[in-house]
Amino acid sequence: MEQGGQRLQEGLLGGPGEEALSQMPEEPDELAVLEEIQQELILQEQLVIEEYERSLQFDEECLNAMLDGLDASDKVICPVCRKNNLTVRNHAVFCQCGLYISTQGMTEEKLQALLEHTLTEHSHRCFHNPEFTVTSGMEEEASLLMSCPVCDSWTILL
Ligand SMILES: [Zn+2]
Ligand SMILES: [Zn+2]
Repeated sequence: MEQGGQRLQEGLLGGPGEEALSQMPEEPDELAVLEEIQQELILQEQLVIEEYERSLQFDEECLNAMLDGLDASDKVICPVCRKNNLTVRNHAVFCQCGLYISTQGMTEEKLQALLEHTLTEHSHRCFHNPEFTVTSGMEEEASLLMSCPVCDSWTILL
């Protein structure tokens, strides 16, 4: 009985099955085209997202590199040129790039802590890597300024 039943089923499926197969080529083609378009759209979307994430990552890497540089030793990398070490004296902080700021009782540890604190504090509210500049008025002494165009904030460090 079982064998018979199986054969009967095969026989029944044989007809419509073949018909379905002959119709197959058209539908999957359309589906394939649609799927291709859809995948292309998804791919484009992913590329945009990836690029955005990469730019975020870049900012983060900059910040981390800067913080690492600060951690590395008691040498403090100049936040303005990001190339030279700052020379810290009791009365002044200066760099080969032209940065010169008068201070009082400054040490490398103090300066490092100050930079680290300001950078970390900013990174809590904004993902952008802030810029450091030296401002100098006509009469006022030069000061080190951290500013960020993204969150529209600035802080005087020294
Ligand atoms: Zn410098
Ligand atoms: Zn910011």
